[in-house]
Amino acid sequence: MDTTATILHADLDAFYASVEQLLDPTLRGKPIAVGGGVVLAASYEARAFGISGGMPGWRARELCPCLIFVDGHFKEYQRLGNAAIRVLNDFTPLVERISIDEAFADVAGCTHLFGPPAEIASAVRCRVRTELGLPISVGVARTKHLAKIASQVAKPDGLVVVDPDTELAFLHDLPVGLMWGVGPVTEARLAKIDVHTIGQLAQMPGRSLEQLLGRAASDKLTALAWNRDRREIKTRRRAQSAGAQSALGKKPAEEQAASPCRPCRHPAACKLSARTDRDGPRAFRRAPLGHPLRHTRCTDLSDGNTGRGCRRARTQGACGLPGRKDNLTAGDLRVAPRDLLGHSA
Ligand SMILES: [Mg+2]
Repeated sequence: MDTTATILHADLDAFYASVEQLLDPTLRGKPIAVGGGVVLAASYEARAFGISGGMPGWRARELCPCLIFVDGHFKEYQRLGNAAIRVLNDFTPLVERISIDEAFADVAGCTHLFGPPAEIASAVRCRVRTELGLPISVGVARTKHLAKIASQVAKPDGLVVVDPDTELAFLHDLPVGLMWGVGPVTEARLAKIDVHTIGQLAQMPGRSLEQLLGRAASDKLTALAWNRDRREIKTRRRAQSAGAQSALGKKPAEEQAASPCRPCRHPAACKLSARTDRDGPRAFRRAPLGHPLRHTRCTDLSDGNTGRGCRRARTQGACGLPGRKDNLTAGDLRVAPRDLLGHSA
């Protein structure tokens, strides 16, 4: 295990809202929300009123009558997200992008060129601010999990470096909801047994946690609570999912729910869904070697509305489509609504 903090987690702040404020300077300093019927993203000014991603639009308006709703500019999000990742790539090739606006980078191999990790993190923040006009927070730590937590603590527009000697002191006072893998449901379950901080979770007897969350989740969270995280940077990781733009659709929620399989944002997801309806598990074995979709992780494919293709694929193993001229690349992928909703950073 590494003994120095060389993992960076860089995360653009309130990304969609920040881009909107960048594109339209009259929106700067004002409470804005991207979306309509549902808040997809909120500026920090809007968050001050208690508005957050996933909130119904009517509720957001109730909390902040002066809230300004804006449509999303997804091509701009993609362009600026890509540009921010390229800044990281200027320092090291070891970059793992995990969403449209955040990535890990391991700078262990480039400190002789650019200085200590903290200096590199500062340089990244400075360049993203000056070249793109966007705020970005960075966490620096020895493990990916801790670096991601550090970047959340650093927000907005900050830098937090976790010294390897003080990792647990830093980690254990923080709310358990900051942990990677603890969503609102798990957080609520833990609260019922008076586990509110990461330190309290770390001290929980394994059996109690196992009964509450199951063995796999219990083992994983306990390890992370003690900062045991051996995951390395995966430079070939793909974007997680497709179909963000459909999240801005203006149809009422009831209408969307009533439609069993609306046209997908990404045609690959629908093709996979239709083929598995017809062929079952055989659908996954028919892609020729080398076909771009044969190697696509199942979570890459989502119809952005129902997730049917995704769920089905997950239950049946690796996915691939027959040899058609689909050419799915990471650059074509977009963030799915589920990534946007609750996108707190
Ligand atoms: Mg972000």
